[in-house]
Amino acid sequence: MKKTVLVTGGAGFIGSHLCGRLITKGYKVICMDNLLTGRLSNVRRLLKDKNFRFIKHNICDYIKISSKIGYILHFASPASPADYLNYPIQTLKVGSLGTHNALGLAKAKRAVFLLASTSEVYGDPLVHPQSESYWGNVNPVGPRGVYDESKRFAEAITLAYHRVHKIDTKIVRIFNTYGPQMRKNDGRAIPNFISQALSNRDITVYGKGSHTRSFCYIDDLIDGIFRLMLSKINEPVNVGNPAEYTVLRLAKEIVKLTGSKSKIVFKPLPQDDPKVRCPDITKAKKVLGWLPSVSLSDGLKKTIEYFRSR
Ligand code: UDP
Repeated sequence: MKKTVLVTGGAGFIGSHLCGRLITKGYKVICMDNLLTGRLSNVRRLLKDKNFRFIKHNICDYIKISSKIGYILHFASPASPADYLNYPIQTLKVGSLGTHNALGLAKAKRAVFLLASTSEVYGDPLVHPQSESYWGNVNPVGPRGVYDESKRFAEAITLAYHRVHKIDTKIVRIFNTYGPQMRKNDGRAIPNFISQALSNRDITVYGKGSHTRSFCYIDDLIDGIFRLMLSKINEPVNVGNPAEYTVLRLAKEIVKLTGSKSKIVFKPLPQDDPKVRCPDITKAKKVLGWLPSVSLSDGLKKTIEYFRSR
């Protein structure tokens, strides 16, 4: 019989895709979420499955689970810049207190623990592309510091539990990811541009649009996380798509794919917005045998379809 997996933040964008994939693979899933930025509608289709259970709980408070647990996938956190600006204290608390509670549970259950970390640990990087050995360039007191530092702390305490308590921990550094089940108002570039394009509103490019990002389709990301979960790797691994685009090129691609009449307009660039971002995925290729396979235009088509259907 397959093991039970606890997914914290399981009703969020990435968490809900993980829950779906785990159910398909025959695991029992406990999805825990306080629904601050997650949505029950993301997992509604799973609620009928006898192997799936939803618990509404804020993991900053003690987590009580009586059954055995084989894996804890810790994905709870506001994750879009707009969300962590709206919820700075909740973001710091879930990354610190929430991660501590989730690790305490992993220790009590002798469960494998996987932390969802982020490319934001590299801050506004001075090394390009970013490999796992780069320590980052983060402004701790800037507006993004609440997320960056909470994830940096989460990585530190995760490895401390590995070293001191011998917990089998894993850390995935997730680069920009997109796909169905993102909230159309989550504030990130892809949902903003698609919803603006579909309603023929102006497309808001921040700055000159020359900043770069590398966008990974959700199915590729889930595949990488699943491989990491089953691996023997305890140190951080980047998972992301290394195809790098400027934000302006992304906006133009979305206008083209939607056939929109929207105009592109330029707005002020948010403070400390990283100028470049691109994962070095040499390690993921080597230790997980993982490579992304969905191109930006194919992934955008599926995402546009989802937003159209809403
Ligand atoms: N961005 C933009 N217009 C928007 C939303 C975002 O130009 O309506 C830019 C943002 O300033 C950044 C890039 O797109 O340079 C990616 O932003 P996102 O919020 O998706 O995530 P980030 O990579 O900054 O965490």
